[in-house]
Amino acid sequence: MTSLRIGQGFDIHRFADDDRPLVLAGVTFAGERGLHGHSDADAVAHAVSDALLGAAGLGDIGQHFPDTDPKWKGADSMQILRAVVDKVHAAGWKISNVDVNVVCEQPKIAPHRETMQHNLALVLGAPASVKGRRAERLGSIGRSEGIMCLAVALLTS
Ligand code: MG
Repeated sequence: MTSLRIGQGFDIHRFADDDRPLVLAGVTFAGERGLHGHSDADAVAHAVSDALLGAAGLGDIGQHFPDTDPKWKGADSMQILRAVVDKVHAAGWKISNVDVNVVCEQPKIAPHRETMQHNLALVLGAPASVKGRRAERLGSIGRSEGIMCLAVALLTS
C-alpha cells in the first residue's frame, strides 16, 4: 500500500541594507532589493526544503545546514534544496508535488513564476506551483520589510 506524507515549510527574511541580489527559487530578480541572510537568502528554496524535511520526518533545514557553518555562507540555496531532495530519496520517499506561496508587497512574483516553477521542478523531479500574494499592507511584510514564504510538500513511498 502507498504511504503518503505531507510537510509544511515556512521562511521569512528581511530585506538587506547592502545591495545583494534578490534570489527566489534560483531566479535573480534584477534591480530588486535583496534579502538579508547567511546563504543567498532564497526564502523559497528554504521553505520548500523545510516542507520536504518535515514530510520525511528528517528534522529541519537548520539542523542539516546550520547558519553558523561557514560552509553555507553565501551558498546557492537551490544546491541546499538539491541536497535535501537527495536525503528524502535516500529515506525511501518520492516527491509527489510542492506548492508555494510567496508573500510580499514587492517585487511582483507573476513575471517570474514560470521560471521559478521550472527551476523547482528540475531539482524536485516533481511538479511545483508558485503563487505570489500580497500582505495588503498589514504587518512587517505589508510594510515591505521583507519576504515570507510558505510551502507544502507531498511525499509518497
Ligand atoms: Mg531562510
